[in-house]
This record gives sequence, C-alpha cells and structure tokens, in this order.
Amino acid sequence: MSEISTRLIHHPYSPPEGFAAPQPGIHKASTVFFANVAAMRTREWKDKSGYTYGLHGTPTTFLLEERLCTLEGGLQCLLVPSGLAAIANVALALLKTGDEVLIPDNAYGPNKTLAEGELMAWGITHQFYDAMNPADLAQKISAKTRLVWLEAAGSVTLEFPDLREQVRICRQHKVTAALDNTWGAGLAFRPFDLDGDGSGSLAVDISVQALTKYPSGGGDVLMGSIVTREPALHMKIKLTHMRLGLGVAANDTETVLRSLPSIELRYGAQDAAARELALWCQARPEFAQVLHPALPGSPGHEHWRALCRHEAGGAASLFSVLIDARYGSAQVDAFCDALRLFKLGYSWGGPISLVVPYELESMRTAWPAHLARGTLVRFAIGLEAVADLQADLAQALQAMA
Ligand SMILES: *Cc1c(COP(=O)(O)O)cnc(C)c1O
Repeated sequence: MSEISTRLIHHPYSPPEGFAAPQPGIHKASTVFFANVAAMRTREWKDKSGYTYGLHGTPTTFLLEERLCTLEGGLQCLLVPSGLAAIANVALALLKTGDEVLIPDNAYGPNKTLAEGELMAWGITHQFYDAMNPADLAQKISAKTRLVWLEAAGSVTLEFPDLREQVRICRQHKVTAALDNTWGAGLAFRPFDLDGDGSGSLAVDISVQALTKYPSGGGDVLMGSIVTREPALHMKIKLTHMRLGLGVAANDTETVLRSLPSIELRYGAQDAAARELALWCQARPEFAQVLHPALPGSPGHEHWRALCRHEAGGAASLFSVLIDARYGSAQVDAFCDALRLFKLGYSWGGPISLVVPYELESMRTAWPAHLARGTLVRFAIGLEAVADLQADLAQALQAMA
C-alpha cells in the first residue's frame, strides 16, 4: 500500500468511539461492508438486526423511523421519498387487479389521480365517498374493497370527518383502513388510539404522513412515512417498498431528525396563529365562509372537538376562505398577488406563510352542499408574528376592493 490513492482510500485511522453531541451522526451508503462471506450470506435485510445495502436502511434512517413510531404511536415505519410515494407504496402493496379502493371525495388530490391513472390501468377500480357521511362509506364497501383511505381534516376544504365511525365501519367489513395523517402529524390526535384511552382498541391500520410538512418544518425536504402496528401488514408494504427501490437520502433524513425535536412547539404555535387569523377572517365581509375545523360552525367541527379537543394544540396551521361570489376571479387573483408576507406556493408546515387559490369545481364530483358559493383560497400559516400577517391580509383585501 504505497500509492497515495490506495493509502487515502484504505486509511488506517478511525476516530475514537463514544462521540456524544445533540445531533446524531449522518451515515451515507449505497454499499455496506460485510466482515466475511458467511455474514454476507446470512445477514437479514428485512429486520433491523443489521445492515445490508443503503436502500434497506442505515443507522440514520433507522433512527428517524423509530422516532416517527414514537410520534404516531406505531411499531413499524418505512421512509419513502415523498408523501405521495407513501400513498402509492401502500396502494401498490395492498391492491391487485379486480380490487377496489375507496377514497374520500375531499382527499389530497394526487391520491385520486393515482387511482384514476396507474391503478385504473392495472384493473384496480376506485370510488370516491362522501367523507362527511359515514353511511355513504358503508354503502360503498363491497366484496372487492381492499383499502379505504381516510383523511382528517380533508385537503383544502378541511372538513373534519367522524374518523372513529369511519374506522368502525372498516373494522366491521374487515377492510384495511389507511389514514393520510399529514394534517394531524401525530400531534392533533393519536391515529392508533382513537378512543384516547391508551387501549388501542380503535385504531387505523396504516398512518402515512408527508414528512415534507411539519416533521421537516423547513419547506426544504420531500419525504414520507408509512407507520403500522401489525408486523405482517408492515412486511407486505416493506416488500413492495424494496421491489420499487424507494430509498431516502441521508442528508434529507438528517434534516428531518434535526427538526423533529421542535415539532410540537412549531405545530402548537402555528395552530394558535391560524386560529387567531381564521377568527379575524370570519368577521370580514369579503369572506362568505371560513373553513377551519376548530371554528364552531365549520364542517365537522363537532367531530374535531370529540377527537382533538383533549390535546394541546390540535388543529394544524391551515384554513381556507370562500371569497364572496360578488368578487370575480381577477379580483381574487389581485388579492393573492397583493399579499407580501404570504407567498404563493404549495405545501405547508414551514416558517413562511403560504397562500393558494383553488378551483374547487375541478376538484370535486359536485359542489359540496355545506360550502358557500365563492372562490376558495387556502392559507398555511408559518411562524411570522400574527399581527403582521393580519395587517398583510387587511392591505391585500383593500387591493381586492
Ligand atoms: C402534501 C401532502 C401529501 C404529499 O406530500 P409530498 O411530500 O408533497 O408528496 C400527501 N397528503 C397530504 C394530505 C398532503 O398535504
């Protein structure tokens, strides 16, 4: 070993063990070494007893998986490259030709798009059900139904469903219940303990999250998680995860690990700010309706109260307004463009407040009866001072008038 390149690559020095600091070290790998051929042949990639290949896990990804289990009250976790990849991984693991998946009509849009695209092309059918009418869900479950998606609150319109009743219906029909828990983030309610008594007697089977939102907290990472409590169900999803090659990058994992300790503080602060601003909006004549599950009168408020009230800060940082129909689309666009602190952009959970105008007609099978007519604008509240955000809304409303 005299050549410099060889000596640099096979360097004999290792630093002392036992380094302890607030953040864990980052482990990066595609290749993982084995001590000998026997170890290579016998090492099991399916559990966390060791390491085989970067795609199958590193100390860094194992660490985040275990912390996310703690956050959501689950026992197993898989990391995927985005929240949407988590949804797709679950669907591809559990559905085959001839099966049907049920999705709430107010679900995260790309979940519906996946059903209408690849799933349909592979002979997997879907139906959209009314998230606010458990009887509609019960009636749509058939012998073909293999998976029911749940979302609380619904995307964009933020109706809060009777999640407990929906899960009971899935149990009765022995259908897998998968929750998109991005809004709740494991903080608003306990997806594996919906009765809140610690018994776990009423629980979803799967909870997926876009870690992109609150766990990342920075608007700079895309990642998703799939948390379960049932080893066989986890393994089924994990085998598909492996076959699809859904790995996550070490630096992204590290970023989420760095943000996770403050998630409860951030979620609580953003929740409080969103409630204050939603209340202020409710008093403004330009808005025909304000949608926020913690506001009395908002669709599903009573279900939100029943499930989330006992927790500190249980309502995320989102609310939507329906701008009165007397304002045309050009005026609504002018309102959004006039905002200075609120940036135009998708996603949420980061420090900067965001706004998106939506075309609800194109997103739902019919205009929901519980929504006022008007143009929907969604706000995601960041970490700026509430008074400044309120002043920003007020000046933009002037621009709209
Ligand atoms: C953002 C979001 C997702 C998708 O997350 P990405 O990481 O952007 O793919 C899924 N579900 C919900 C409810 C979301 O808000």
